[in-house]
Amino acid sequence: MIPTEFAESYPARKERLSTQMKSATGGVRLAKSTSNLFRDRIDVETSQLTVRDFNHLLTIDENEQTLTTEGMITYADLVDATLEYGFLPMVVPQLKSITIGGAIAGIGIESSSFRYGLPHESVLEMDVLLADGSVVTCTPDNEHSDLYYGLPNSYGTLGYTLKLKTPALPVKPYVRLDHMRFQDPIEFFDAIKQVNESDIDFLDGTVFQAGEYYLTTGRFCDSAPFVSDYTYLNIYYRSIREKENDYLTVKDYIWRWDTDWFWCSKNLYVQNSLMRRIVGKKRLNSMTYTKVMRWNSKWGVTRFLNRITGFHSESVIQDIDIPIDRASEFLDFLLAEIGVLPIWICPIGTTEKSTSFPLFPLSSETMYVNFGFWDSVKSRQRSKPGHLNKKIEEMTAKLGGIKSLYSDSYFDEEDFWQAYRSEDYWQLKKKYDSDGKFLNLYEKCVLRK
Ligand SMILES: Cc1cc2nc3c(=O)[nH]c(=O)nc-3n(C[C@H](O)[C@H](O)[C@H](O)COP(=O)(O)OP(=O)(O)OC[C@H]3O[C@@H](n4cnc5c(N)ncnc54)[C@H](O)[C@@H]3O)c2cc1C
Repeated sequence: MIPTEFAESYPARKERLSTQMKSATGGVRLAKSTSNLFRDRIDVETSQLTVRDFNHLLTIDENEQTLTTEGMITYADLVDATLEYGFLPMVVPQLKSITIGGAIAGIGIESSSFRYGLPHESVLEMDVLLADGSVVTCTPDNEHSDLYYGLPNSYGTLGYTLKLKTPALPVKPYVRLDHMRFQDPIEFFDAIKQVNESDIDFLDGTVFQAGEYYLTTGRFCDSAPFVSDYTYLNIYYRSIREKENDYLTVKDYIWRWDTDWFWCSKNLYVQNSLMRRIVGKKRLNSMTYTKVMRWNSKWGVTRFLNRITGFHSESVIQDIDIPIDRASEFLDFLLAEIGVLPIWICPIGTTEKSTSFPLFPLSSETMYVNFGFWDSVKSRQRSKPGHLNKKIEEMTAKLGGIKSLYSDSYFDEEDFWQAYRSEDYWQLKKKYDSDGKFLNLYEKCVLRK
């Protein structure tokens, strides 16, 4: 076991936070340096809980192949730390500033999810700070197992994860990628179903337009005949159309989508090579783009430009999980009625635990496919606020899918609680936040409080 210098100071820092929580009145919010929430919030008065120093790797156990981290460590820092020992967390979300606690409370995913499920499914135990200031350790089978299973998709409304233990995956230095093109959506999703799990380490896909679908497999390897670099002038998503196979270092594979925020950097005009040189390699990443988008949202530059040019726009930023047998119907719907392209496709395999998380219930009988699509849809026609997002919510429910809650939601309250299991939620709320110090899930994720 290799403890880092921070393991020793964790109990004292935890104590400080516990005292802060006890004295907090009214609502509580996390004060941390980064966030990947993508909805504008209504300002409500809250106490800020300073968690910026809960961002360390605490121990790594090479024999047991586990790692213990603090909840607010970003995956960028975590990956840097674990790769030094030749390990990675089992599922590393694609954006560098996502934190491990955020990926559990707000649901993460990546191309290893076809094998390991979502990040919360591989957690072994967690320390959770509750509304009354106490910290409980929860595991799948101790007296707080209800909280262990209830925390995923709870968005900080039941408690905050301060520390957690997860398996560590031994990795090789390189990843070989193979991009396969499909024209028929049924064949595309069938190919996902037929993937032989033992043969590959990563699997995701990209829909560029109707009739142009790519499946990308990744395999760890010890050496590479050449190594591509998509951290500056070359753009990863374009390479999918251009190359049949490719090699990346394991670290560049993990962050392949971050440099251009998948493809969303196009909205900031940095996919042009002159602009890339002006902006500089260091600033080409999701953290820069998030700052620019928040600045834009605050000052309303796009809103102003739309107004003077006579456009109406709706932000459609969603990740939706659909059972694989209904995936081609959902794709047809997105192509015909929403029109945001490209679309990221990521299969989610079932694990023993898949069914057990009440606030993000997935069936263990079927594989799911995550559809990620992120853009602003412009029209000359004025529609009701959220009309495309509402359509997506309705189609998701019809096909037996589930939607992530990190961006805009328009559910009415009854539909919301049907999808995210009100009975289980309110039992947890009663047990772990009986005075309602935290907002509830509907207030936070739909009412934007
Ligand atoms: C444009 C966009 C693209 C995305 N793409 C991906 C993707 O490709 N892959 C992927 O995996 N995910 C993706 N996400 C979703 C992302 O993983 C979630 O939004 C996640 O919750 C963000 O984590 P964060 O650490 O930034 O949390 P924050 O944004 O800071 O917080 C999210 C919520 O979780 C709560 N929270 C944060 N930390 C904790 C904690 N330690 N304990 C309890 N509650 C906590 C907060 O209170 C808040 O309600 C995307 C999000 C956006 C906006």
